[in-house]
Amino acid sequence: MRRLMVAGNWKMHGTRASVAELIEGLRNQVLPSGVEVAVFPPCLYASQVIDGLKGKSIAVGAQNSAVEPLQGALTGEISPSQLVDAGCTLVLVGHSERRQIMGEGDELLNRKFAAAQACGLTPVLCVGETLEQREAGKTLEVVGRQLGSIIDELGIGAFVNAVVAYEPVWAIGTGLTASPQQAQEVHAAIRAQLAVENAEVAQGVRLLYGGSVKAANAAELFGMPDIDGGLIGGASLNADEFGAICRAAGN
Ligand code: PEP
Repeated sequence: MRRLMVAGNWKMHGTRASVAELIEGLRNQVLPSGVEVAVFPPCLYASQVIDGLKGKSIAVGAQNSAVEPLQGALTGEISPSQLVDAGCTLVLVGHSERRQIMGEGDELLNRKFAAAQACGLTPVLCVGETLEQREAGKTLEVVGRQLGSIIDELGIGAFVNAVVAYEPVWAIGTGLTASPQQAQEVHAAIRAQLAVENAEVAQGVRLLYGGSVKAANAAELFGMPDIDGGLIGGASLNADEFGAICRAAGN
């Protein structure tokens, strides 16, 4: 039985003051014990969030990390080992904003994924198609290639301690959500692709859905057999809304 997970990606939002408010709001939430809850603040505020959430079972992750596991001469980057030292336990790899705006490709992401795991971080691999790709009928091909890149380079064993987030690019921050059926179709294909390599690993890996998830649509999405929770962007900046999404996962 997979434990559901709800993770909040705060993206490049926040100030020390607004982060303090969000921490306070999260501390006030009643969170279901059966759901793993995590937040991904901007790195600058990771320590503030880790300290502020002490005693509350909310994990803290980073939105990005370096291709090299250990500290060294790599200006502007933060190594997975430094994230672990700060108290982070997870890291996003390949969010579509980084794939599209920062030009991060599969080869670079393979290195980031491996470096993160080498330091004990759990990578959350984000995959998803653009609207153009969906309309061209290429959704499963695109997602399959993004996933396959990690399998080919690192082996199926890399998914024993990893999470995959299916995030259709057209649904991120747009208010458009994939229907539960559309999301389930892709999640089932991801699990089937993993199962070709190892059925047990495929059954154990958590597959999150991301793309305009709100309290109002969360329960229906999380009710699908291969959807094991959500990666939440905009709605995670509101503690009450995020708490309600976590509780929807708990039901
Ligand atoms: C995201 O950025 O990962 C995301 C899913 O954003 P939103 O929930 O705002 O669509």
